[in-house]
Amino acid sequence: VAKKRGRNQYYWFTQQFKTQADQHLKLANGLSHALAADELTLYYQPQIDIQSNKVYGVEALVRWNSAELGAVSPAVFIPIAEETGAILPIGAWVLRTAMKQAKKWTEEGFKDLVVSVNISAHQLIEPEFAHYVADFMQEYGLDARHLCLEITESAAISDLETSYKVCTELVELGVKLAIDDFGVGHSSLSMLNKFPFQFIKLDRSLVQDIATSSRDYAIIRTVIELSGHLGMQVVAEGVETREQAELLRTLNCPEAQGYLYGRPMPLEQITAYLRSHT
Ligand code: C2E
Ligand code: MG
Ligand code: MG
Ligand code: MG
Repeated sequence: VAKKRGRNQYYWFTQQFKTQADQHLKLANGLSHALAADELTLYYQPQIDIQSNKVYGVEALVRWNSAELGAVSPAVFIPIAEETGAILPIGAWVLRTAMKQAKKWTEEGFKDLVVSVNISAHQLIEPEFAHYVADFMQEYGLDARHLCLEITESAAISDLETSYKVCTELVELGVKLAIDDFGVGHSSLSMLNKFPFQFIKLDRSLVQDIATSSRDYAIIRTVIELSGHLGMQVVAEGVETREQAELLRTLNCPEAQGYLYGRPMPLEQITAYLRSHT
């Protein structure tokens, strides 16, 4: 019996592995023509000024609807796109599309709207990255104050020297920078010290437990306090309940984002949302 089970487990394991490898290959393949096949779109999630309850910005979040594989989550395909290099054309497309849309919104009267775009390590360590951004801004006639780039720690630390230089150039252009998923990495504090961020995005895993964990509450309170001393602003990610929002307000957290206010939504819907919340 033991022998039989052992063999079955081995079989199960290799099958599982094969299926994962197949899936990975399918995703990598699909990604290589997702742009040309027009399968990518941007959704936008509102970002709220907690004290006034008004929208100050939106975060662009890419969506892939593959003809072959159906809807695939960015949490799944972005890491694969980073591995294969597809992230460079995809990232450039995301940036252009979001910037073009930002310009349209400012023309429609959303004069102070800030559009945030997630940037991958591969983009950030391109020595010419800030120049591309400057070129796009000129091409679309977009003022830099409407653009915020969200960077994760791991993105910055893969090549500290280049990413630091690129970040400095971006800030000189007037672009805002946010550190994304703050509080779950390893060297968060030294990153804050070195890089010119305007926003600290508190990771959802911390915000989720603000009402139930006194430790998470203490960490959030301390980060908000610290951000003030550093001249940065905290954005709480993944706010889902009124209780969480209320606690954040009492801690003087300036900004929040999460399902409580609105999910990521397609263009028409977010534009309607902006009209009713600005
Ligand atoms: P992120 O940048 O930290 O984005 C926030 C994620 O949290 C989004 O997931 C959003 O839908 C989700 N979220 C927002 N509010 C809530 C909430 O209240 N509850 C819960 N449970 N989730 C919430 P999404 O859209 O699946 O994106 C996942 C990640 O994929 C992003 O995390 C980002 O790291 C990456 N990503 C998405 N779009 C892009 C892109 O255009 N370029 C790059 N490089 N990465 C992207
Ligand atoms: Mg983000
Ligand atoms: Mg995040
Ligand atoms: Mg993330």
